[in-house]
Amino acid sequence: MPIRSLFATQIYTAALHGRGRQAFNAQLLREIRQLRRDDAAGRAWSRKNYPGGFTSYSSANRMHRLSPTFALLERRLEPHVRAFCRALDLDLARRPLAMTDCWVSIMPAGVAHGLHLHPLSTLSGTYYVQVPPGTPGLKFEDPRLDRMMAAPPRRRGSRLQNRPWVVLRAHAGELLLFESWLRHEVAANPVRSERISISFNYSWF
Ligand code: FE
Repeated sequence: MPIRSLFATQIYTAALHGRGRQAFNAQLLREIRQLRRDDAAGRAWSRKNYPGGFTSYSSANRMHRLSPTFALLERRLEPHVRAFCRALDLDLARRPLAMTDCWVSIMPAGVAHGLHLHPLSTLSGTYYVQVPPGTPGLKFEDPRLDRMMAAPPRRRGSRLQNRPWVVLRAHAGELLLFESWLRHEVAANPVRSERISISFNYSWF
């Protein structure tokens, strides 16, 4: 077909490899639960801004600097971030790309995370620590959606690259990277078990 795919929106997904993956995840899980107990400022912020859930987004948001386990996560993410930057052809020779924020999110039953993007960052992503069956994936929105006022709807079963929204399923032990301008959301968690994840931003100084 004489068709070129231009201005592509690229999303990177991979499993985090490395020794003792399950033990590593279990340690992250323990620390996240401990953080929820210890982080009163985070609990107060979450009551207002993330009702029913817990996030350290506005309190403990440099976990890679606070915890050796999260620092190890940062190191394990590095090759993936490099690979994604290569896929995007980002020229980072003059300035480094560095993890600037790293925070945790706990979504109990009924908690949702509305549509948002990550301003003041270059790349963003999430590592999934606990994803019980039935908990929602990450929903991405076509960044050109506001220009599609008269566009016909897409056929049922249309190819992923032609859909205005795509939900990527989350799996424990996997990570997902995207450019920070890409809007995304997590639907309300319909099951009783908690969905637990770690999100991060990388910035280009
Ligand atoms: Fe986000």
